[in-house]
Amino acid sequence: NADSALFKAKSSGRDSYAFYSQEMTEQAHQRVELVSALRRALEQQQLRVHYQPITRLADGRMIGCEALVRWEHPERGLVPPGEFLPIAEESGLIGNLDVWVLEQACRQMRHWLTQGHDLAFMAVNLSCRLFRRSELVREVAQVLASTGLKPEYLELEITESAVMEDPDTAEALLTQLRELGVRLAIDDFGTGYSSLQRLKRLPVHKLKIDRSFVRGLPADPSDIAIARAVTALGHSLGLSVLAEGIEIDAQVEFVRQLGCDYGQGYLFGKPLPAEDIERLWPVT
Ligand code: C2E
Ligand code: MG
Ligand code: MG
Ligand code: MG
Repeated sequence: NADSALFKAKSSGRDSYAFYSQEMTEQAHQRVELVSALRRALEQQQLRVHYQPITRLADGRMIGCEALVRWEHPERGLVPPGEFLPIAEESGLIGNLDVWVLEQACRQMRHWLTQGHDLAFMAVNLSCRLFRRSELVREVAQVLASTGLKPEYLELEITESAVMEDPDTAEALLTQLRELGVRLAIDDFGTGYSSLQRLKRLPVHKLKIDRSFVRGLPADPSDIAIARAVTALGHSLGLSVLAEGIEIDAQVEFVRQLGCDYGQGYLFGKPLPAEDIERLWPVT
């Protein structure tokens, strides 16, 4: 097994080549296992969608949420997306995964609206790998049609770094998505080196200030400067601005005073299964 191989390789010293190739084989093997486990997870419905509330800062009202995927692994319990999304992206399973999440989220939103909950939008993340998927726009349109959700209730999030990796493709794709009538947000803003030239042309509605710049508020001078600058930039381009990762009262107060429109973070609520989060929703 792997441990005894490692031990032998270490003790033999000059056999380091054998050791490395064996370790690499082991890693490749684990990766193959993980890919097939993830494929089974998709087929056997082991993936779950949790929902995190988004609050309108002007009146403190929860008016939307973000869908976040989890893997309910039979042995390992609830696995966070950071541990399997990279594998999903490399193996090409991400397309199926994102479309599956999209469908769950749209159906859930439609259900909440039908029940009379006064919610403005459901945010869903899209991987940058989907940019290379020519059928994406058609798939989004199909999900909207099959779930009966009006497009203005769906907000698609694309990270700033994904946009900047291939700005022309991203711009073309976002333009097509916008034509469907959905809303668009740039996620993790501030970490992806946008060119302002590009940013002003993107047909988006919202910037989400990355959590890493909210963490140090309200004390850290550079975080203050960045949060203030991003909010001013977003507003001057006619976009709304959301602060991610709000954990304490002083942060809400601070970003509200900066003029941020929305807040999201553990202070307002952690991501939760639909049946737990819906108790927080306002009813008309
Ligand atoms: P994101 O889109 O920026 O989502 C926000 C992440 O920050 C979530 O982590 C959320 O649980 C976490 N978070 C929210 N508020 C707080 C807070 O106050 N404090 C702290 N420490 N964390 C907070 P999560 O669910 O682990 O997701 C991580 C990332 O995985 C997401 O970042 C998103 O990029 C990606 N992701 C999640 N679900 C999907 C999906 O269905 N498709 C794709 N393509 N990506 C997804
Ligand atoms: Mg997001
Ligand atoms: Mg984000
Ligand atoms: Mg983030």
